[in-house]
Amino acid sequence: MLMEKERKDIVEFGKQMSSQGLSKGTSGNLSCYDPETGYMAIGPSGLGYFETTPEDIVIMDLHGNVVEGTRKPSSEHNLHATVYLHHPQARAVVHTHSTYCTTFACMRQPLKAVHYVISGAGVDEVPCAEYATFGTPALAENVGKAMGESKALLLANHGLVTCGPSMAKAFSLAVNMEFVAEMQWRSMAVGTPAILTAQEMSDVRERMLTYGQAKKPDEPKDTVGY
Ligand SMILES: [Zn+2]
Repeated sequence: MLMEKERKDIVEFGKQMSSQGLSKGTSGNLSCYDPETGYMAIGPSGLGYFETTPEDIVIMDLHGNVVEGTRKPSSEHNLHATVYLHHPQARAVVHTHSTYCTTFACMRQPLKAVHYVISGAGVDEVPCAEYATFGTPALAENVGKAMGESKALLLANHGLVTCGPSMAKAFSLAVNMEFVAEMQWRSMAVGTPAILTAQEMSDVRERMLTYGQAKKPDEPKDTVGY
């Protein structure tokens, strides 16, 4: 079976996505990418996160061809492939319909630097891609147009997509973007949020370089860009 570790990651993080309330029902989907083969492992379409096993994961190339698997792949496989083509260092993509991110996506408004953890996206403002029907090449195209340097992107009237150097990092970014969106929503509910300035965000990125445990030499540096 191809991409066994990636299949397990998709199953495990799918359960977390559901149990942490980031995706209701079968909404959202996860994928991993192996640059050596050019293959992407992606969750199946419309199967519950707690019903999905590693055998249900579908292996595809980035042109929409199924390489291995009996299930129908996630309807958003074009969108995932577009993110890997746009950010060649990305190894995992997380797509959710998490409540607060989707609220701003419905308003077609970007996430702003109301909280410093937005720095995880590598930008000071997370943009919102133009609307297109879910699961269409048009939506994937809009993602490619809007993503820029950002590792996170809102999808108009739809949800959120994030990427990262590992599934754990892409997932953590989705959790943090939901937190930023909730803080933005809550602060707008009682007044006008103060937005961190470009200089304040630059200071955050500088500080992030030395945050947390020392990294091993082969660990991906993912705090700022890739
Ligand atoms: Zn979706």
